[in-house]
Amino acid sequence: MGKQPVMIPMPGRPKKRLFIGMISLATLLFALALFLIWYIGVPGLSRIQPMLPWILGGIFTLIIAVAFFGIVNLVLAVSGMPYISILQKQTYTWINLLFPTAVRLGKLFGVTRRQLEGSFIAVSNLLFNRKQIRVPAERLLVLTPHCLQLASCPHKITRDPHNCKRCGGCDIGALVTLADEMGFHFFVATGGTLARQVVYKSRPKVVLAIACERDLMSGIQDVYPLPAVGVLNIRPNGPCYNTHVDMDEVRRQIERIVIPKDSSEKKEEPHG
Ligand code: SF4
Repeated sequence: MGKQPVMIPMPGRPKKRLFIGMISLATLLFALALFLIWYIGVPGLSRIQPMLPWILGGIFTLIIAVAFFGIVNLVLAVSGMPYISILQKQTYTWINLLFPTAVRLGKLFGVTRRQLEGSFIAVSNLLFNRKQIRVPAERLLVLTPHCLQLASCPHKITRDPHNCKRCGGCDIGALVTLADEMGFHFFVATGGTLARQVVYKSRPKVVLAIACERDLMSGIQDVYPLPAVGVLNIRPNGPCYNTHVDMDEVRRQIERIVIPKDSSEKKEEPHG
């Protein structure tokens, strides 16, 4: 008996400015807090050594100036203007530090953590696509979480995705077929530790990860400086259970990255 096509709701496009706005607001609050600390500490510090308030004030100003510069750099990147890509690591560190504050601020404006994470991924993907990284298929690693597999499927695909019988019950079969067709590495990871091991072993130049907002956000930052692009999974059955992915989006993104085998295009390999 033929399978009935399942209607899967596609995720909406997260707004990039949401994340940038909340991180900017969190940075502003952080700057105010540093100013207050400095202001309250000035009398005591001057008694110890008259130059101390100046030194501490200088350090605080430098921290805030670098943070705002990182944000301006992100805005430039998102707006399609020239930006400094080497500052990405520092910006990620700053984002990690201020993300919990940004989430709390977001709540005041009715923005959920998931929306903020989705917005971060949109920004990160845009930075990735701006670099126009292209690699041979064998240097691309595609990683998906285990929840993409149909929960009732008896086949063990985490050791070898080729154990999948491609019955069409979930998107794993289509991904295995695409991997065979195009030649990229494809793995199904049960958690962050296994995902890191797979990245370490297969030594890719680019990672394409399929996951939820939270895992993509931490995963993209974890593998840096390895360039990584994220595709959000679709969760019609709730989190971590029988999830799906938009295969057209996955294919589109892979075709942007992989140099076709017969192409004479010069290989532009990223650092790392
Ligand atoms: S496509 Fe593969 S992994 Fe998915 S249910 Fe069928 S056999 Fe299992």
